[in-house]
Amino acid sequence: MKICRFDEGRLGLVEGSHVVDVTAATRALPPLSWPVPHGDHAIRHLDILRAEIARVKAKGARLPLADVTLLSPVANPSKVLAAPLNYTRHLDESRADAGIHHHTHATEFKGAPVDTLGLFLKASTAVAGPGEGIEIAMPERRNDHEVELALVIGREGKRVAETDALALVAGWCIGLDMTVRGPEERSFRKSPDGYAVLGPWLVTVDEIADPGNLALGLDVNGEARQRANTRDLTVGLARLISLASHWYRLYPGDVILTGTPEGVGSVEAGDVIEAWIDGIGRMTVTVR
Ligand code: MN
Repeated sequence: MKICRFDEGRLGLVEGSHVVDVTAATRALPPLSWPVPHGDHAIRHLDILRAEIARVKAKGARLPLADVTLLSPVANPSKVLAAPLNYTRHLDESRADAGIHHHTHATEFKGAPVDTLGLFLKASTAVAGPGEGIEIAMPERRNDHEVELALVIGREGKRVAETDALALVAGWCIGLDMTVRGPEERSFRKSPDGYAVLGPWLVTVDEIADPGNLALGLDVNGEARQRANTRDLTVGLARLISLASHWYRLYPGDVILTGTPEGVGSVEAGDVIEAWIDGIGRMTVTVR
């Protein structure tokens, strides 16, 4: 199932080039009252939601995808974690260009960079959908695109073994880990509003047989920038989830950006980013 959020917070089921408005399905979610639990309410109850979507979809308005504004498929992630330097050829380009990683470009890592650096956090308020565009926060600085496979946690978990880790995943989407380059901490530079683009929709786990072998790419204004495959992740998906869960309790709706491959580069106002991942889809994001 491909589930999106669109326009003014509506829920959609994506079928081909159309979206079926299944907002009525959200009425089946249990009521929320203060204090709300950490995480995303709809993702926590995805089983209920999916059954209800199937029940109501015949009555839903059918709209061309091109006519709707796509929001982040996750409305309320409690946290967004991200892996630094998790493709070898991106590590190589970072070493060749001190402008990419001011602190670590010259560092020799024993094993994977993630083993030394850990993961970093992006503010959950940085999350936005592809239809919202990206407003450059620091126009006088270098602002880079990073396309990444994003995974969305579906079940709570703490200290999860690597062998059990993928069972926590609700689904997959495309992530853009937008980044202001410079000397500040990663979490500071990577957290302006809109700098964590998630979309175009959530693809539930049952639809992707092998997330560890997906081609992905990104163009800017029609020019190829990033071309890669998730099989080249240095630290794979299960180990990233397990690692994250040993440091933090994971909640439904939490997002892990799994790392960007080589080909990162800058964007500025007026640019159009197109990003895709096989089995998920593609999304167009305007920079302003
Ligand atoms: Mn990244």
